[in-house]
Amino acid sequence: MDKMPKKKCPQLDKGGIVMEDCLFCKIIRGEVPSKKVYEDDEIYAFEDINPAAPIHILFVPKKHIESIAKIEKEDEALIGKIYNAINKIAEEKGVKDKGYRVVTNCGKDAGQTVKHLHFHLLAGTNMGEKLL
Ligand code: AMP
Ligand code: ZN
Repeated sequence: MDKMPKKKCPQLDKGGIVMEDCLFCKIIRGEVPSKKVYEDDEIYAFEDINPAAPIHILFVPKKHIESIAKIEKEDEALIGKIYNAINKIAEEKGVKDKGYRVVTNCGKDAGQTVKHLHFHLLAGTNMGEKLL
């Protein structure tokens, strides 16, 4: 666990510890601007600032979880909800039938740069069969 101050956030009180110095927690709280694509009481989605595909949207749980490696039993439903939100936006963006890629980087070797669990929705181009 990162050594950053933690506190309870009343706006995100879904059992949610939030991180004071976490970029995505700041985006969720509106302290850092973002282009919102989707929001509900547990999930926030916004456009990636440095898109790797014509459609590149990040889906984050409002609850601060460091990475997919840190999910717990109680987060199982939340992860399912994130995938349902991804499917909803894929449909709205008109790529549900064409195809899309969902990626979550976990840890150093995967290149995770922001230590708040997020799922990249990538679409709008043919990404080919190669994963890397
Ligand atoms: P990862 O490398 O999997 O941790 O992904 C982090 C992603 O966050 C990258 O694709 C960045 O382009 C994106 N990113 C970083 N800062 C911001 C920001 N302020 N707003 C939107 N996306 C961001
Ligand atoms: Zn966070």
